[in-house]
Amino acid sequence: MNAFQAANHYISKASRIMNLGPRVERLLLSLEAEHHVSIPIERDNGELAVFSGYRFQHNSARGPTKGGLRFHPTLNADDVRALAALMTWKTAVVNVPFGGAKGGVACEPSLLSQGELERITRKFVERISQEIGPQRDIPAPDVNTNAQVMAWIMDQYSRLHGFSPAVVTGKPVELHGSEGREAATGYGVICVTENFLHDIGDSLNGATVAIQGFGNVGLFAAILAYERGAKVVAVSDVSGGIAARDGLNIPALVDFARSHRLFAEYQAEGVSRITNDALLTCEVDVLIPAALGGVLTRDVAREVRAKVIVEAANAPTIPEADEVFEQRGITVIPDILANAGGVTVSYFEWTQNLQCLHWTEGEVNGRLRQIMSTAYATIRGLVQSRKLGWRTAAYIVALGRVAKAAMLRGV
Ligand code: NAD
Repeated sequence: MNAFQAANHYISKASRIMNLGPRVERLLLSLEAEHHVSIPIERDNGELAVFSGYRFQHNSARGPTKGGLRFHPTLNADDVRALAALMTWKTAVVNVPFGGAKGGVACEPSLLSQGELERITRKFVERISQEIGPQRDIPAPDVNTNAQVMAWIMDQYSRLHGFSPAVVTGKPVELHGSEGREAATGYGVICVTENFLHDIGDSLNGATVAIQGFGNVGLFAAILAYERGAKVVAVSDVSGGIAARDGLNIPALVDFARSHRLFAEYQAEGVSRITNDALLTCEVDVLIPAALGGVLTRDVAREVRAKVIVEAANAPTIPEADEVFEQRGITVIPDILANAGGVTVSYFEWTQNLQCLHWTEGEVNGRLRQIMSTAYATIRGLVQSRKLGWRTAAYIVALGRVAKAAMLRGV
């Protein structure tokens, strides 16, 4: 089962439980559009290089489509399909007025200069400029893309269509970005983690946490967990992981990571090295995968020793592993709830751009907490009343909203 089939597997399961029938499933299981473009650029050495770019739109029944752009060498059409579908269900879980999309470019940013990255981004926007737009499809950051990339997107689209800050979210705050957007996904992850621990009579204060991935999402999840008194005992990046039984010095690691260095080079007293696989099986209260998808395989799932897994990454758990977690009684808070803080603040950014407003960080975080807590409580209600797993409950909530909108609009 590839990642797209896995997302559809969860939807079919939810649809059967809800008795929605084959008509709804047929309507919602395929994508609305798949734009596949080639991106030629001149390298700094004068050579011509051609990259593959994708922008796939899954479903727009509830509003313009929304989803990140990923720059990664292994990115392929199946990944983009799966990630676009997840966005449809995620925007529905937090009830923001968007559908789902995803895109990206198959490239290795660490081997490209800043100028080359800018040329790739601008050419990509040129090629998809009719397919995106503030009322059509709104990109955002994802793996290996950041506020600078979003600024280039806004500028390039605006050159073609007139000044349009609402065409993309995750922009720098100085260029119509929202306060709180950079930290938003990590903030949402920690918000649902706190809610869950509170429900089981526990707290983040004193809890042990392991986090895979120390980019936008993992870094902010680590800072916020640390600030709330958690012991972050293991973190990792693409080069491997580091661990300390008494808890890592997260502020020092944040400074280290922000200076563009990898953990393979990190040295400090009491800190040992671990592999990315070993991190996933650490004995901890909370495991937060915050890197790439598919890392929690069936074999890894058998060895996991966490009480709860909070899916900060998209699709980190394959369906077979999900079954193992269910059998073993390990709760998995699914991606479409756990990492929805990013798209929620993207919605705030889009709203501010359309109204030419600028909200304070306090306003943004207050509204974000409210939306995440409402979504969490709705899903927890179903988990408790119908004795369902968290993922199934989240898909039921999402599918109910998208199916209703699709039926009201008509085929
Ligand atoms: P990022 O590029 O900022 O960071 C990715 C991190 O993962 C880096 O620390 C990198 O070194 C590490 N990494 C990369 N390959 C790895 C590997 N093979 N093993 C271990 N670590 C590896 O990306 P991000 O924006 O933090 O996204 C992380 C995950 O969260 C992705 O699954 C993404 O789809 C998801 N997500 C991101 C957002 C967002 O707002 N950025 C929102 C929702 C979900």
